[in-house]
Amino acid sequence: MTHKVQGIIALEKNAPVSLETVIVPDPGPGEVLVDVQACGVCHTDLHYRQGNINDDFPFLLGHEAAGVIEAVGEGVTSVTVGDFVILNWRAVCGGCRACARGRPWYCFATHNAQQKMTLEDGTELSPALGIGAFVEKTLVAEGQATKVNPEASPLAAGLLGCGVMAGLGAAINTGGVGRGDSVAVFGCGGVGNAAIAGAALAGATTIIGVDIDDRKLEWAQGFGATHIINSRQIDPVERIRELTDGNGVDVAIEAIGLPETYQQAFFARDLAGTVVLVGVPAPDMKVELPYIEIFGRGGALKSSWYGDCLPSRDFPMLIDLYMEGKLDLDGFVSETIGIGDVEEAFHKMERGEVLRSVVAF
Ligand SMILES: [Zn+2]
Ligand SMILES: [Zn+2]
Repeated sequence: MTHKVQGIIALEKNAPVSLETVIVPDPGPGEVLVDVQACGVCHTDLHYRQGNINDDFPFLLGHEAAGVIEAVGEGVTSVTVGDFVILNWRAVCGGCRACARGRPWYCFATHNAQQKMTLEDGTELSPALGIGAFVEKTLVAEGQATKVNPEASPLAAGLLGCGVMAGLGAAINTGGVGRGDSVAVFGCGGVGNAAIAGAALAGATTIIGVDIDDRKLEWAQGFGATHIINSRQIDPVERIRELTDGNGVDVAIEAIGLPETYQQAFFARDLAGTVVLVGVPAPDMKVELPYIEIFGRGGALKSSWYGDCLPSRDFPMLIDLYMEGKLDLDGFVSETIGIGDVEEAFHKMERGEVLRSVVAF
């Protein structure tokens, strides 16, 4: 049996997205069918629509989603019909060289559904990040659906599926922020503000948000920034040193993906501190640093892929913290929109007006 539903498709490079009929097969072995309840609009969806990821059009967009399991295929054991789940793009394989070495959060062979969702004429769709969730029902691999507390709001919970997890994990998993640490976050959009929230959750006592947009800096304070710097007006490296007894921060997180802000993060860090890159650079960018300083300052220069998260470990724990009022996931939901409003939401995101627009089904 197949299911005929409505979904948001990027048919060709740079064209506005459109609402199309999508044919979703019943789950095969190791697959689950999810009734999508909410899906956030992420920069990565826009990158797909602009052709910046690859040319495998048409794309079924959407990947920051939560929903309910509607059907399970043969051999599925970790979830069952009726479970409330958050979708993820790290269904670990358990057998690749990263998994074998006990570091499954780096898994190099993650699972997606084997069967294809299609347009009505049979054209196969490429689901964004192997998910595709701007659609009433979607088909994913079992490991891509992580069961969490069903009392959580799907609008907020779905955001853990990508950008918010990336930011939280950049601070907690990759940066290893601990009690009493000082942290600076460059870029206070969705990912950066999640890094601020993560630093606060981990017990950092000095948390400095850096951006060029006062509106974003105000949001940063709401998520736990103890200090803010508008880097259009003030040199952020100098100011961060002033705020940390002349030393620099223990962990500097770059959440934009620009060489200039990476350099600022590098120099705003204390000796033996850590720089975490979670912003995604463009392919043609280069960064220049004095080689002697890379040695002389010691510490670590790290990159954070999806917050180095392990969904089965991190999602239920973070949802519990959210339910206990310790993690403000609702604060990332700037607006709730309909499935037909995704194109307009891309423009609001480009203008920096929202942290996240979330499609409610
Ligand atoms: Zn693996
Ligand atoms: Zn995303």
